[in-house]
Amino acid sequence: MEIEVQLTGSPIAEKVSPPRLAVHGAWLEFRGAVRDEEKGEKISGLEYEAYPEMAVREIRRILELLAIKHDCLAARVIHRVGIIPVGEAAIYVGIASRHRAEGIVLLGEFMNQLKQGVPIWKRRTLPLGARPASGGGQRTGRPTLKSLDEALAEIQSHCQPLPAVCAPLAEAFGRVLRETVCAPEDFPSVDRSTRDGYAIRADDASETYSVVDTLHAVDWKPRHLKPGEAVRVATGASLPCENLRVVMQENVERTGDQIRIIRHASATNISFRGEDLRAGGPLLHTGTKLDAGALAILATVGHVNPLVSPRFRVLHFTTGDEIVPPDQTPKPGQIRDSNSILIRGLLQNFPCDVEQAHLPEDFEKAKAECGMRKAEIRNADMILVSGGASVGEKDFTRPLLESLGFGIVFSQINLRPGRPLIFGVNGGASGPASRLVSSLAPPNKIQVAFGLPGNPLSHFVCFHFAVAAALAHLIGGEAPKYLRGKLAEKLDDQPCPRETLWPAKLEIGPDGVARLHPLAWANSGNVACLASANALVRVPANIGPLEQFAAVDFLPTNC
Ligand code: AMP
Ligand code: MG
Repeated sequence: MEIEVQLTGSPIAEKVSPPRLAVHGAWLEFRGAVRDEEKGEKISGLEYEAYPEMAVREIRRILELLAIKHDCLAARVIHRVGIIPVGEAAIYVGIASRHRAEGIVLLGEFMNQLKQGVPIWKRRTLPLGARPASGGGQRTGRPTLKSLDEALAEIQSHCQPLPAVCAPLAEAFGRVLRETVCAPEDFPSVDRSTRDGYAIRADDASETYSVVDTLHAVDWKPRHLKPGEAVRVATGASLPCENLRVVMQENVERTGDQIRIIRHASATNISFRGEDLRAGGPLLHTGTKLDAGALAILATVGHVNPLVSPRFRVLHFTTGDEIVPPDQTPKPGQIRDSNSILIRGLLQNFPCDVEQAHLPEDFEKAKAECGMRKAEIRNADMILVSGGASVGEKDFTRPLLESLGFGIVFSQINLRPGRPLIFGVNGGASGPASRLVSSLAPPNKIQVAFGLPGNPLSHFVCFHFAVAAALAHLIGGEAPKYLRGKLAEKLDDQPCPRETLWPAKLEIGPDGVARLHPLAWANSGNVACLASANALVRVPANIGPLEQFAAVDFLPTNC
């Protein structure tokens, strides 16, 4: 079952679109709204609190177990947390199933179990007369810190798949298949020999055989064999009829046109019609990332222009007057630009076109530069800005993105490294009216933007956990998943109020278990650990140190 779980501090949308799987069959929707009384008292709202990571994990676990009993196709759960005014939805559950009955049962059981085992609770009631702020969780002077899970849920909900296109196989590597491809015919289409040898009837136990024909891989010569007859066949040759077996030539003695079997073996040495692919059977499902093997399957069945995700455009700006190109010797105070090549390298795993430019340090000049680049900005599907994401006098990424028409979804997350991460959306229902590009932006086009904290290690972390997830959703694929492994050594760190994505070297032990070696880093300006980092270990907030062999969640970073 396809499962999506989201915790959000924002109101749940009036309309939540069903997953693609729900096209056939039933799509049930349930919304639980806050009642106007609690324990006999009239109230104006409720405040919900959650342990987000555990809650998401637990909801998933419950749904996965229920899906074993009740065969459903997909589920989407959105739980709102923070202050929720009376009448607004605290939870949305959508269930797709082939028939309504199993969906209704699963929905009922899920709601019962949700109340028991999931760490989401009512923190307080708001008495009548109190004025809950709709649409945004707590409102303090500071921006709300999103948890990692909340940030990911926001990214997912704003990054809808870009429209699919047809592309020739040679251009489809790395793209996401946006259709399910079925075998148009059996493959192989006839019984074929897997050996160089002699085909004889399967039921023929003669002593000797007359060789009546020769078939190479290219030949197609149907005929029936009589007892005592054999046909010389090459590997890959189409057999002349059904119910044969092939005797390897190494097991045969040949004299003129006569053969005698000198070693008996039970193998048929035949690749039977439809043995590999059955006509009508699904070969590749929608959402598959096309690698070399998947492309070979499409070529085999002649599906040469598959419907795939489009090649998308990324525009990457660096900022900071201390930044010099990597081939220059930095003067005191200057620093070589390593983020441009880092971002370019990380984007190699996605089929996209990347343009990069440096913005002047002055905000007005940076806006003017963007004005000159209107066409590139309008064409981009994603804009990345390196640096300037924090709240210093020179940090203009947020206002710059706003001036480009982006609505800021969040600007800080409770993460180390990478706290000042900005995520913005332009277009759709999310962005405010654009000041610089809206008149040029094609209608219905949605663009997303990230302002990444400038240090290379923060870049590495934010790219893998946030940007890669956004890209995966934009191309209609699967977001990177956290896996389970064990610490190979103690992760010696003090408890931190922020969740941490700790760089690590991942190895698979002889027992098949993922072992993670935590790498040394003192602050996000350190780059040395990038030499061997191929995973990020997720260390929960306020926990530490983690002992050797502790079970941890981690995100692989080399795919
Ligand atoms: P910022 O996020 O702009 O405050 O930058 C934080 C740190 O990252 C500063 O030490 C910057 O010099 C550094 N930094 C910013 N951009 C880059 C870059 N393109 N390459 C390497 N370091 C950078
Ligand atoms: Mg800067």
